[in-house]
Amino acid sequence: MNGLQATNPKSSAGPRGSGLLVIISGPSGVGKSTICSRLCERLPAEFSVSYTTRPIRPNEVDGSSYRFVSQAEFDRLHASGGMLESAHVYGHSYGTPLEPVQQALADGRTIVLEIDIHGTVQVRRRYPAARTFFLLPPTPDEQRRRIEGRRTDAAQTIAERLKLADGEIRFANESGCYDRFIVNDDVDRSVTEIIESLRQEQAR
Ligand code: 5GP
Repeated sequence: MNGLQATNPKSSAGPRGSGLLVIISGPSGVGKSTICSRLCERLPAEFSVSYTTRPIRPNEVDGSSYRFVSQAEFDRLHASGGMLESAHVYGHSYGTPLEPVQQALADGRTIVLEIDIHGTVQVRRRYPAARTFFLLPPTPDEQRRRIEGRRTDAAQTIAERLKLADGEIRFANESGCYDRFIVNDDVDRSVTEIIESLRQEQAR
């Protein structure tokens, strides 16, 4: 049981159990990871650790931010039905392990997924009651500053990700997949907005 369900114990966000599935998306450099970890602390909720074939960054811990796997291992997991969704993002494969999501929902817990738009479309098909949020950068300059401040991506990668951001925002708008668009100009304010939105929905 979490703080949200305490406000309305009968509410349900998935077809099985009474757990809540929350999706956070947004372009590179918008602050998704910080928002997700703060949101998980405040709700409280569990973070869904994705599989990825992307190389590990110096500040990352395998099993914490991602489970870093080879392409062969990713393909094997995917083929065995172990993923809720998967997508190819910025040249690498990413996917959400299915079992932790099913378990959280069945147990009545909240689980937070940080995934891209294509993944969100797939999850919504399976869990239409998933609550979805798309984060927007306050300004393109701020977004660039955040990506560059990470100092873990090559200059070419940074340029590619920034170029893709406009298209991602447009697609997110047109997809109709997102409940709410949030300008992330302040982490705590953005997290409060997400929590308030979840509460309002559950109170209905
Ligand atoms: P990064 O490599 O910067 O951590 O993430 C790159 C992109 O992949 C981000 O847009 C992030 O939301 C997305 N992503 C991370 N994990 C998953 C996942 O499991 N599934 C999907 N579809 N996208 C993911």
